[in-house]
Amino acid sequence: MAKIEMKTPLVEMDGDEMTRVIWKMIKDTLILPYVDLKTEYYDLGLENREKTKDQVTIDSAEATKKYGVAVKCATITPNADRVKEYNLTQMWKSPNGTIRAILDGTVFRTPIVVKGITPYIPTWKKPITIARHAYGDVYKNTEMVVAEGSKAELVVTDKDGNETRQLIHEFKGTDGIIQGLHNLDKSIASFARACFNFALDKKQDIWFASKDTISKKYDHRFKDIFNEIFDNEYKDKFAEAGITYFYTLIDDAVARVIRSDGGYIWACKNYDGDVMSDMVATAFGSLAMMTSVLVSPDGIYEYEAAHGTVQRHYYKYLKGETTSTNSVATLFAWSGALRKRGQLDELPELVDYADKLEQATIATIEDGVMTGDLAALSTLENKTKVDTETFLLEINKRLAQLMQ
Ligand code: NAP
Ligand code: MG
Repeated sequence: MAKIEMKTPLVEMDGDEMTRVIWKMIKDTLILPYVDLKTEYYDLGLENREKTKDQVTIDSAEATKKYGVAVKCATITPNADRVKEYNLTQMWKSPNGTIRAILDGTVFRTPIVVKGITPYIPTWKKPITIARHAYGDVYKNTEMVVAEGSKAELVVTDKDGNETRQLIHEFKGTDGIIQGLHNLDKSIASFARACFNFALDKKQDIWFASKDTISKKYDHRFKDIFNEIFDNEYKDKFAEAGITYFYTLIDDAVARVIRSDGGYIWACKNYDGDVMSDMVATAFGSLAMMTSVLVSPDGIYEYEAAHGTVQRHYYKYLKGETTSTNSVATLFAWSGALRKRGQLDELPELVDYADKLEQATIATIEDGVMTGDLAALSTLENKTKVDTETFLLEINKRLAQLMQ
């Protein structure tokens, strides 16, 4: 069988620990036999980040800007333990943070839904994607403990030196606390565009919710920017695609989400997205079944798994013990990236291969063959727990048939 040709290379960002092991297995077992894979390879493994003084992370993000599509393996974000373990000269920053800052992107997280893994909300039949605004609010705040008898004010000094003051609170009879938050029109607009582009790409409805009834300037600004960009740039495209955008109060959104059957994108402010993405991930069943894609406002895509490097499994693997690590989210990062590359380069065969790779993966699990994390959750009657490698070989059995 002739291998599927590619035109433009994918940016390939390799990573750490167990996911690095899985990365190679996926390529060898499921991709290289079918695709004449073209990638521009960047080794974001911690050792190489140390060796290049983290320049490799920046280079990989720049390459993503150039080519438009990347696939990333999970990477270690160093902490004090890792500095010792890897003999680091610096506590290098999170690669995901660096890449996100360079691409100015929004992260979309979507669960992979399979028969046998029932969401805790039984009405949820289709995945719910959470889009989290990843700038500002409480994540870039200034806060103070305030002593009784103090007066706290907001003071803004404009570029000509004029001050505008507003009272926050006069602290009488008790100590208290204050917090200063900000956001940027530019960042909110980027977030809105990334959300609307992603909705068009997925042909799914998108909701945005905040607390504009209480926060009449701050949250209301988010609502206005979303509405303005939608009306001016996306209204017609949405009508053509048969999808809708609507704004609602965050309380209403939460109630609707629980009553829904899924199949839409929920755009959240930074804090709401932080909290709600954990709720949605847990309710859908497993972190190992959660995909993640970073989308820039100008349509650059970086695909990855939402989970980390699965360190505990890696130490078992190093000792030569059998592991049963779930490769589904990493596999879907590859299929997502290859599909997007195929769409951009007009390669229907590559798009078709990506679809079949996902079908084969889901079929394997629905046939009852799965890794330990899923076996513990699945309600299927006949299920077999398999090791990391066997799972991929089982997927390949089904993929080979689909590709015939
Ligand atoms: P983790 O790698 O997501 O793993 C936490 C636990 O979740 C695992 O020990 C495992 O539970 C289970 N798990 C996660 N993914 C799994 C999979 N694919 N298959 C089976 N089980 C899975 O999180 P962590 O242990 O907190 O972090 C490890 C490293 O990953 C850290 O250095 C962190 O910086 C990094 N990290 C990277 C990213 C990223 O690159 N996007 C994201 C998060 C964390 P059991 O051990 O109980 O089986
Ligand atoms: Mg969180």
